[in-house]
Amino acid sequence: MSGTGLQKVKATAMAVIDDLATRKVPATPTNYSVWYAHVTGENPALSRRIRDHLGNNHPLSDEVLDELWRRHCSPMGDPATVAQASDRLGRVLSELGREMSAAGEDAGRYSDAIRNFGESVVKAFAAPDAASLLQDATRAMLLETKRMAEQNRSLESKLQSAGGEIDTLRRDLEEMRREAFTDPLTGVGNRKTFDRVLAEAMASARETAKPLTLVMIDIDHFKKFNDAHGHVLGDEVLKIVARTLVASVKGRDTVARYGGEEFGVILPETSLGNGYKVADQLREAVKAKKIVIRSTGTDLGRVTLSLGTAVYRAGEAATSFVKRADTALYFAKRNGRDRVADENDVQDILPSSAA
Ligand code: GH3
Ligand code: MG
Ligand code: MG
Repeated sequence: MSGTGLQKVKATAMAVIDDLATRKVPATPTNYSVWYAHVTGENPALSRRIRDHLGNNHPLSDEVLDELWRRHCSPMGDPATVAQASDRLGRVLSELGREMSAAGEDAGRYSDAIRNFGESVVKAFAAPDAASLLQDATRAMLLETKRMAEQNRSLESKLQSAGGEIDTLRRDLEEMRREAFTDPLTGVGNRKTFDRVLAEAMASARETAKPLTLVMIDIDHFKKFNDAHGHVLGDEVLKIVARTLVASVKGRDTVARYGGEEFGVILPETSLGNGYKVADQLREAVKAKKIVIRSTGTDLGRVTLSLGTAVYRAGEAATSFVKRADTALYFAKRNGRDRVADENDVQDILPSSAA
């Protein structure tokens, strides 16, 4: 990029960050992408929605910004891209289908030719001009065989290239799917994954009557960390936390980034008591990590987590399940952070109606 080009990008980036700060919106990667696309005017549909939103004096809440990002900026933001790829795959498949049925007809013609050849040979033996009849029949048979061989070759290469294209499309679709369900910063599942896996886990818990525990996690005083060390290092911390969570759970468990600095961990076949133990191990594992800037050796201390757990009640909606784990999480926050609370802790402090 040229010097002036770079300067322009830098100026835009600063303008975006300043504008976000004025609006008291944290410059998280997603908020930043939304605002960057808006400020540069590269996404008119997005800008229109933001102008309408601000025009109606609605606040720019996390939910609104999240939704704008998902709809207008995420890799799957444009469902038309996926539809296009699926359409292409469909076209290749139907083309292949046509080739195959054409080959079927050809193969039929070839076996007819073989039968005719056999009949001609039998007749030729009895005929006075056997030699010339035989020669004609042989020539016809050779021609048909040659045609069939050519047809086979061209079909084979068509099959090969169609096969290659199908493979590429399948990989493209897989990649798009992977991107759509992955949080780009931390590499763990994103909110879509969280919602999908939780719904599946709830269905399975209903079927099997096995317990399902949910852990909601929030980094303590993360704003302070960002303010002290900057968002770039804040992002590094998010990656470390995500990695540590993934490394500390079993394969059947799911770690997903629920939002900004919040994670959700889904623990199938786990009781509330065992879920509490897992949550406490997660808390310990993250706390044990020293945050050090490798190049300078500067020690930035440690980050702690507050965690809330709840166990699924058959038949309840995902929102109420998440809310109970979230309420427990905020109970942990109010009680000093760096701790786990479960939903029963919260009930303990409810007025006597809970008894
Ligand atoms: P608490 O202990 O009560 O949770 O305090 P907190 O400061 O963590 O909570 P608060 O909700 O006030 O702030 C969350 C902060 O997390 C705001 C924002 O600076 C930071 N944050 C959210 N998402 C990201 C992100 O993607 N990257 C970075 N670097 N920071 C983020
Ligand atoms: Mg938070
Ligand atoms: Mg926090």
